[in-house]
Amino acid sequence: MAQTSRPDFVFEGVRGVAADASPLDAAWAAIRAELKRSCGARTFDGWLKPIRLEDFDADTATVRLSLPSEFMANWVETHFAEQIRAAWRAMLPSVRYVTIEAAAEAGRSAMLTAEPSEEAAPVNEVEPVPVLPVATEPSPFEARYSFDNFVVGKANELAYNAARTLAEGGALGFNPLFLHGGTGLGKTHLMHAIGQEWLRRQPGSRVIYMSAEKFMFEFVSAMRAKDTYSFKARLRAADVLMIDDVQFISGKDSTQEEFFHTMNEIISAKKRLVITADRSPQDLEGIESRIQSRLTWGLVADVNPADFELRFSILVKKLEAMPEARVPPEVVMFLARRISANVRELEGALNRVVAYALLTGREIDMAFTEETLADLLRANQRRITIDEIQRRVSDHYRIRQAEMSSARRAREVARPRQVAMYLAKQLTPRSLPEIGRRFGGRDHTTVIHAVRQIEKLRQSDAELDADVRLLMRQLEG
Ligand code: ADP
Ligand code: MG
Repeated sequence: MAQTSRPDFVFEGVRGVAADASPLDAAWAAIRAELKRSCGARTFDGWLKPIRLEDFDADTATVRLSLPSEFMANWVETHFAEQIRAAWRAMLPSVRYVTIEAAAEAGRSAMLTAEPSEEAAPVNEVEPVPVLPVATEPSPFEARYSFDNFVVGKANELAYNAARTLAEGGALGFNPLFLHGGTGLGKTHLMHAIGQEWLRRQPGSRVIYMSAEKFMFEFVSAMRAKDTYSFKARLRAADVLMIDDVQFISGKDSTQEEFFHTMNEIISAKKRLVITADRSPQDLEGIESRIQSRLTWGLVADVNPADFELRFSILVKKLEAMPEARVPPEVVMFLARRISANVRELEGALNRVVAYALLTGREIDMAFTEETLADLLRANQRRITIDEIQRRVSDHYRIRQAEMSSARRAREVARPRQVAMYLAKQLTPRSLPEIGRRFGGRDHTTVIHAVRQIEKLRQSDAELDADVRLLMRQLEG
């Protein structure tokens, strides 16, 4: 292969780019800025921002771009190759070709570095406790709930980093680790990942994972059998003890007391303790304050709802594990945009679409997706108000919001007003007369006219169409 080099031509005047950047980098920065402007921040962040400029081969006049995965590279190739090539050629005439491929390291696990400890404890050093057979089963962990399969974003990075640090088994500045957040956001996934990673590094050590409900059930059974001793002994023998969803323990006096005694001992013995709940320690009801404060001794990390970018990355990750599924990119974008309640639902939506397509032999397109997910889409629909639409549209066109209801017909306010009416019709369940009323008491025929007008313009005026799309994306959050 020809030697890689930088193009040797003079390049001048890319706005907003450091003066000392190389021509190649400067051109790339300008092209990216242009792409971002023309296709909107979301598409850009999802698909185009991850593009890396690899190099320029002067002999073949080829710029090489790469993406983190095969899937993304294919998508960008299909949807943006032309635009990107044209932009390069316009920016740097010496570029003839642009290739878009998956990065060399794509697909390789970047995470796992350490080897399992050689001084791992022999298996079964501690007697299994016969009273409670369930928790001594070979592995209670789901293989797919691994760190590698967990997609990290702003919403969960604190929790992820804490979990990872703990699982790596080094000295810890915190104990316990308390993870909290709404349902379906990945708390259980992280616990399973901790368990598996810990066992991988220290085979033979004792990791106990239990739901709080099971904890209560087993404790109550042990009490009935007058053998709480074995139950406690087993928990205390754990190197890592993980109790999921402790909000279920609150309010149950004797179990609660037992739970926190055990917890205390685990911490004192410098064993690792991981707890999850659907709320913060302070918000757990019916728990003694002494216990509550003990829960906050360690690290309290929240897991927040995934934003669009994270939802999108999660879908891409899941799709990589189902190479047989043919899910077009616009459907991926649509799901990430519209299924925002939690990750479990997002994953469920994707699985449902793929499974139904397989069952019915139908192709996955937008119509099929909307039909298959009708109920879920309704449940995830955010209530968009006319006021919000008027505010966004006014902001976008830099006019005062009062112009939405004013009688002025000057084009610079009339067109935005029509856009807002159109969006009100598309994005809210309001009737035409109601919409008219909210725009300065206009007649419903004015609203119809506006809707038709914008529909027509969207076909012929690319800039207006881009405005409308952008506003829709912003409003649908
Ligand atoms: P929780 O315990 O918080 O209710 P789970 O851990 O059961 O949520 O997660 C629900 C589903 O969503 C699981 O299938 C999990 O694998 C998936 N999930 C959640 N967050 C992520 C993430 N960041 N990356 C990949 N999958 C995730
Ligand atoms: Mg859970």
